[in-house]
Amino acid sequence: MSYDPENIFAKILRDEIPATKVYEDGQTLVFMDIMPRADGHCLVIPKTPCRNLLDAGADQLASVMLTTQRMARAVMAAFDAGGVTIQQFNEGPGGQEVFHLHFHVLPRHEGVALRPPGQMAEAEVIAAHAEKIRAALEDIPR
Ligand code: 5GP
Repeated sequence: MSYDPENIFAKILRDEIPATKVYEDGQTLVFMDIMPRADGHCLVIPKTPCRNLLDAGADQLASVMLTTQRMARAVMAAFDAGGVTIQQFNEGPGGQEVFHLHFHVLPRHEGVALRPPGQMAEAEVIAAHAEKIRAALEDIPR
């Protein structure tokens, strides 16, 4: 399987379609999931192309995992969460729908289930959640 540069996250990286971005550095970008399964659900991606965990290079994995850890800490603080779930899917049978490596970061609260997939959230709600994460990130060391 080869990388398709027309996948939707590649278009977000090229600013061809909009996304609510919360963080970026030289190697990684974080933006809000458009169909959040929990308040604060965001996605961490490498800026360079790879389909998923199976073809990612060591540098891509290292940078994405460090940013994922940082985002996990930030969403815990931003949403006063009791835990955080990290999800990552590989190829169609593995549950992957967008074929650019991404890690889901989902703040969790005791007894609160994830919402079902496929439900769009209001843009203003997503924007407000993004702002909370950005504010929390200011206190998270790199
Ligand atoms: P996965 O490939 O991990 O199964 O799921 C892809 C994720 O990308 C889903 O959680 C879905 O809600 C999200 N997603 C799909 N299209 C878009 C989009 O255009 N913008 C954003 N921000 N998220 C998207």
